[in-house]
Amino acid sequence: MTRKATAPTVVLFRRDLRVDDNAALAAAAHRGTAVMALYILDEETKDVRAMGAASRWWLHHSLATLGKRLGHAGANLYLARGRTGEVVAKAIAASGADCVFWNRRYDPSEAAVDASLKAGLREKGLTARSFDGALLHEPSLLKTGSGGFYKVYTPFRKAMADKTDIRDPIDPPGSIDGWRGEFAGLRLDDLDLLPTKPDWAQGLRESWTPGEEGGQARLHGFIENDLADYERQRDIPGVQATSRLSPHLAFGEITPFQIFACLRKSKSAGASKFRSEIGWREFSYHLLFHNPDLAGRNFRPEFDAMSWRDDPRALQAWQRGLTGYPIVDAGMRELWRTGWMHNRVRMIAASFLIKDLMIDWRHGEKWFWDTLVDADAANNPASWQWVAGSGADAAPYFRIFNPVLQGEKFDPQGEYVRRHIPEIGALPDRYIHRPWEAPASSLEGKNIKLGKSYPRPIVDHGAARDRALIVYQSIKGEK
Ligand code: FAD
Repeated sequence: MTRKATAPTVVLFRRDLRVDDNAALAAAAHRGTAVMALYILDEETKDVRAMGAASRWWLHHSLATLGKRLGHAGANLYLARGRTGEVVAKAIAASGADCVFWNRRYDPSEAAVDASLKAGLREKGLTARSFDGALLHEPSLLKTGSGGFYKVYTPFRKAMADKTDIRDPIDPPGSIDGWRGEFAGLRLDDLDLLPTKPDWAQGLRESWTPGEEGGQARLHGFIENDLADYERQRDIPGVQATSRLSPHLAFGEITPFQIFACLRKSKSAGASKFRSEIGWREFSYHLLFHNPDLAGRNFRPEFDAMSWRDDPRALQAWQRGLTGYPIVDAGMRELWRTGWMHNRVRMIAASFLIKDLMIDWRHGEKWFWDTLVDADAANNPASWQWVAGSGADAAPYFRIFNPVLQGEKFDPQGEYVRRHIPEIGALPDRYIHRPWEAPASSLEGKNIKLGKSYPRPIVDHGAARDRALIVYQSIKGEK
């Protein structure tokens, strides 16, 4: 005879701020005892990277939405701040729980916190269980023929497709018997996640609807309106052709299982490309799982010998969108205003910082970490290292984006640049990506004063390219 469980279950929420397809929550509800839903803002555990400012803004709104959704289903969302292990111990003491469930995290520093939590709980005779949800594949299980991890995307993707069963999304619990006792938790405002002085989040508020419903609306809107043209249009920053699901994925408001389930019937080139991009996210996590310090250390050690330039003024000009190269500046301003930047422009802006300015990719990675609403522990460093050439399956070192040609190719009418740099909006298409070449007659009466209303280029791309090639060749030993 099985004994019926009676003590409550604590369910930890982290970057899985959803009710649908939430394996840990579903298992807790299924257990049939009261559920204590708990979010812990853990900024104290050593080695766990603190969230950037834009992510904190997102987190605030996502928690508010999750709290409402759980409330409708019957459960309180308790909020707390502190070390995960200590807060969980207090939650157990308050609720009398004998069981703690959570969905797995794959950032090694966070996974280590969870591993020690699991061991500690089990030592006390409590049940601790973790579930999947964030990734289609388990990085610890997918191995190359020689037992290592994958360093190149195409074989990784093939192995993932061959060896990973993509399950259906898990239904949300119909109702939850929420534990409603006393716990010394915090109110959402007490977590201090929002910017106040100054409140720079206006552009974020205008651009996003954080939370599970916002993520579902994005997914379905994208599939209906943009998926068919995704492959053709995804590189054009002036049109909205990509899903913009990245912050929803980063906060676990939507899962790759849900996305794949919605795409299951679609055989179009757009759907196939889109699946492949989600596959890049899996690959980034695979790399991070096996290379814990992906944000701090070159994946290819020969890059440790690189002589980066120390140029705070150039770094600041890049951060503020004042390099004089319109496509780079438009991207950096889109980032600052909305917390997001189009992928093509991320590549161009990153290449400019690394190869034109010869500034260490880690400075760029940090800036993105602070300013992106989709700042992601795996995608961000893996992408920066990819552009730098120091990463796995990285762009070849001699690929140095020309910001003018990239602008002309992907934003031919300058729609994107005009949206983000209105002060040069009146330039004819011909000069919109090379304002410094515009003859005086093109500037006349348009209130454009190069060097005053918009900067002249802070470096000459041709000379910068030559400099970068010399430095890169020196570390490759290919003179
Ligand atoms: P879509 O084109 O609609 O793609 C769907 C999803 O696939 C994305 O949401 C994302 O989860 C995944 N994806 C798409 N492209 C990539 C890629 N190249 N690598 C990994 N996953 C991808 N993405 C982040 O989610 N967080 C980051 O912090 C991040 N930093 C980046 C930094 C640099 C320098 C570069 C070049 C890229 C970075 N990316 C990052 C990858 C990519 O730019 C974004 O995922 C994408 O622009 C998000 O927009 P979307 O959701 O509309 O993408």
